[in-house]
Amino acid sequence: MRIAIFGTRKYDRQFLTQANAAYGFDLDFLDVALSPTSAQLARGFDVACIFVNDIANRQVLEMLAEGGVGLVALRCAGYNNVDLVAAETLGLAVVRMPGYSPHAVSEFTIGLLLALDRKIHRAWSRVRENNFALDGLVGRNLHGRVAGVVGTGQIGGLVARSLRAGFGCEVLASDPVVDEALVAIGVRYVEREDLLREADIITLHCPLTPETRHLIDGSVLATARPDLVLVNTSRGAPIDSAALIEALKARRLGGVALDVYEQEAGIFFDDLSSEIIDDDILQRLLTFPNVLMTGHQAFLTEEALTAIAETTLESIRAYSAGEPLCHQLRHQATRPGAG
Ligand code: NAD
Repeated sequence: MRIAIFGTRKYDRQFLTQANAAYGFDLDFLDVALSPTSAQLARGFDVACIFVNDIANRQVLEMLAEGGVGLVALRCAGYNNVDLVAAETLGLAVVRMPGYSPHAVSEFTIGLLLALDRKIHRAWSRVRENNFALDGLVGRNLHGRVAGVVGTGQIGGLVARSLRAGFGCEVLASDPVVDEALVAIGVRYVEREDLLREADIITLHCPLTPETRHLIDGSVLATARPDLVLVNTSRGAPIDSAALIEALKARRLGGVALDVYEQEAGIFFDDLSSEIIDDDILQRLLTFPNVLMTGHQAFLTEEALTAIAETTLESIRAYSAGEPLCHQLRHQATRPGAG
């Protein structure tokens, strides 16, 4: 099996190479993301292995199929960047990596929330300058606050459990599928509009679908609780970033922690510290004292990277052996919520 691995970073190379000791596939690590301009690099390969910001639209998939690729292997859970209808028409199989480590993302979510709420990131930069003053660092307890969890699948379920059982929050949840184990510990499923209006803290764990795009828009932000704290480690586009800036400028929000951003493709995962970035929305977001951002890092643990590498290569082995693919994505079978 010849595998073209797009958008490779150092950690991908390390963990895929380690896992490949058990498979002996021919791995070709490419720095570039998959796009209409780079798709021809996969010519002659059996598999294109891609990540969250690679483009796998119809045009790209046609180029892959024409060049001999038979399998697109996503080394991530979300697949909003793949045109599954086109893949099916072209006879391309698509596999993903669901639930590789919900702990990695849920723990990072709680970490972001605590850092933002208790201003730990700001305190650290002060202390490094020998500034030990505490003015401006007053935070709030999580205990007793109302937290709204949108999407209680693998990741959101762990976050809801942690907030409820660990921190003693009142937890509201919104998901078309009710998790009875969460209900048993006191999580209350409510209508999404009620959650968005009543929560002091909102954390997003739903997939990006047409229904969840700009789920948090100007009207939601206008009617949310004053000093709302918003956390997003799902995908960027469930939040309307321009509306978010307006709400921040109007001082309506307590704080925002983002690991994802709707226009992150072409920016995140790269060192642009010496570049001028044209995205004014991103640059404005980074100026607010009550915004904390990371560059799509929530998945990045040794355990998750090991699981991603091993399961991706196992899917490729099953494909090469003509076996059924456990994590295959099919357009018809796509649950509206699958992330
Ligand atoms: P999952 O499929 O286990 O859970 C998603 C849940 O969202 C499901 O319970 C589903 O019913 C629910 N849902 C679907 N549509 C909804 C809607 N309109 N409103 C409310 N809930 C809805 O997925 P997961 O593994 O928990 O991942 C959740 C999200 O996290 C995905 O978008 C994924 O892409 C993202 N993610 C981000 C990172 C990161 O590094 N930041 C890593 C992994 C996953």
